[in-house]
Amino acid sequence: MNDCLFCKIISGDIPSNKAYEDEKVLAFYDIAPQAPVHILIIPKEHIGSAQELSTDNNELLGHMFAIARKLASEKGLDCSGYRLVTNVGDDAGQSVKHLHLHLIGGKTLKWDN
Ligand code: 5GP
Ligand code: ZN
Repeated sequence: MNDCLFCKIISGDIPSNKAYEDEKVLAFYDIAPQAPVHILIIPKEHIGSAQELSTDNNELLGHMFAIARKLASEKGLDCSGYRLVTNVGDDAGQSVKHLHLHLIGGKTLKWDN
């Protein structure tokens, strides 16, 4: 998608600090981290949000969660715990309309909505 920020990060038009990359998925460090570890995991295919997923994406989603587990373990969060979040739409505060998993950890996280 031409005007999508995360598609521009995938293409390299906008630089990012990469944590993981393969043919299906890119993971990079959030520019405004909310915790000591804050990584975004995105599909290279443009999908607007979780609301646009179908069963065709089951394998991709499983892969995204596998990458999240791998990165969490590499960052030493597998024992302490971490949060995986995907915001959908305006009420959730989704600011970039390209599906992404936030991997957040490294401190005790609060939950206030
Ligand atoms: P959302 O609010 O859509 O759930 O999450 C979007 C995330 O993307 C935010 O946490 C924001 O800090 C991050 N973000 C926005 N622009 C950039 C950017 O140019 N580079 C990186 N690395 N992260 C970004
Ligand atoms: Zn996109």
